[in-house]
Amino acid sequence: MAFKVWINGRLFDKDDAKISVYDHGLLYGDGVFEGLRSYGGKVFRLEAHLNRLWNSAKAILLEIPMSRAEMARAVNETLEINGLEDSYIRLIVTRGAGSLGLDPNRTANPQVIVITDHITVYPEQLYRQGLEIITASTVRNHPAALNPRIKSLNYLNNILAKIECMQAGCMEALMLNHKGEVAECTADNIFLVRGGVLLTPPTDAGVLEGITREAVMELARQAGREVREVPITKHDVYIAEECFLTGTAVEVIAVVKVDSRKIGSGAPGPITRDLKERFHQLTRC
Ligand code: PMP
Repeated sequence: MAFKVWINGRLFDKDDAKISVYDHGLLYGDGVFEGLRSYGGKVFRLEAHLNRLWNSAKAILLEIPMSRAEMARAVNETLEINGLEDSYIRLIVTRGAGSLGLDPNRTANPQVIVITDHITVYPEQLYRQGLEIITASTVRNHPAALNPRIKSLNYLNNILAKIECMQAGCMEALMLNHKGEVAECTADNIFLVRGGVLLTPPTDAGVLEGITREAVMELARQAGREVREVPITKHDVYIAEECFLTGTAVEVIAVVKVDSRKIGSGAPGPITRDLKERFHQLTRC
């Protein structure tokens, strides 16, 4: 079935959902986006995603031409029209069409787009076995250049790291920041388990403030586990008892090998499995 796409308040068939080639979102990656999921027709943490979208837009001085409540309505309407229960949702706000120069003042009409589609997830086998990842040589964007907290339409930094890991036969890559500390993966946050304590890089290490990261930290604390946001090195990753990634698409997935080093026992660990299950309960109840 061809899903309808919502653009600026109107619904279009997928094949007719088009915006200008002069849009600065296309010309320069000038815009922001969000990736969300719905479970059983209910959008997971919609408000948190809208807050992050508005914060990203604020950071790049882009005014979203509607309210959060209107955006929430657009998301729910689009889901309903497409008859989707479990879905992936992409929100996009571009700077709008303008001249061929960079000047954002010469653009007009930011384009607001809501795409809802089926969600593609990793094969179940990868969840059972855990992922093998590598460290990319591409360094995560310097926060003073383009802060990774901004979910901008320019994802080349992540794509370059993704190309590296795909060429190495892996699905994800660990990205270090300009100081050589662990930041995050190309589309996921990272957690370690050491001495039963969860460790994850702080946001000032240059990471996206993942909605799943936040939910997993809450779940871990509710389960009586200590969670520390601390700088992490590659060495910390290599010697961790457990390692896992979090993200809207992957939810919680174990990492069992990093740069050819086996992590812990080499199989998804008990804390990872427990948090994966708790996250599953949280999204499906
Ligand atoms: N880091 C990056 C770079 C991402 O693109 C994503 C996916 N949005 C994440 C982390 C995970 O964030 P979330 O849990 O909000 O999907």
